[in-house]
Amino acid sequence: MTIEKIVENVYSISDGSTRGNVAAYVLPNQIIFIDSGMNLPLVKEFREKLEKETGKKTTYLLITHTHGDHIFGNQVFKDCKIISSKHTEERMIESEKTNWAPDKIVEMIKNAEDPSTLEGLVIVLPTETFDDRMEITDGDVKIIFKRTGGHTEGSSYVYCPTYKTLTAGDNLFIDNFPWGGAPSANPEKWIAALEEYLSLDIDYYLPGHGPVSNKDKIQEFLTYITKAVDLMRKMIAEGKTEEEIIKETDKIDYHPPKRPQWKELTLKKWYEVLASK
Ligand SMILES: [Zn+2]
Repeated sequence: MTIEKIVENVYSISDGSTRGNVAAYVLPNQIIFIDSGMNLPLVKEFREKLEKETGKKTTYLLITHTHGDHIFGNQVFKDCKIISSKHTEERMIESEKTNWAPDKIVEMIKNAEDPSTLEGLVIVLPTETFDDRMEITDGDVKIIFKRTGGHTEGSSYVYCPTYKTLTAGDNLFIDNFPWGGAPSANPEKWIAALEEYLSLDIDYYLPGHGPVSNKDKIQEFLTYITKAVDLMRKMIAEGKTEEEIIKETDKIDYHPPKRPQWKELTLKKWYEVLASK
């Protein structure tokens, strides 16, 4: 694990050791973490190190969206306010009854590449939620937490105008094809979110997966997803079949996905959303 200092007061683990990236903002009187990753010992170590180094306490954990690789470390922040969008909380409650039921969790830990990363895992839900937007102010530092949808309907980003950083969760997969096949994924909301990110005065973008980036990488993904959506819309209007549309869209050049099946499932989901309009 490498704790990377992005800029004064902003830190992240974005080397993949926690699966989903984990970020931390040091404010004048407190520390705020964003997403809790999927490696309990490493996230605990990150929190302890930062608190020791700064002499400040962690008070908030902000959750960008519902996926396990971003929330399984929540128990490390049990004593903090844990905040997500209402939609994310609803999905977490649903998952607790299905794929995160206690017997499923036991099985998941057993089958994990390194079971020690998830030993003792319990699902910890948000303690507070918001519909579309909330703000945290500490001295002269402001944190804006806003829901856009895209990767999931509850997907929300954290924007700090003071530190000129934006933490996007899985609306950004840098240098990788994104996972866009979640049930509530929406390519049009995703495009709108990326345009919003680019409109802000930001120096550093912290993705859900991949390295910390600048505007060029966001633009690269926006160009790709816009091309894919435009082509799908055009072919849908021409009455082409789903198979023809996926095949043609698949030819647009972009980074390969981490898991081979991700690309087709993502394109199918995007097609389904666009075709249902
Ligand atoms: Zn995700």
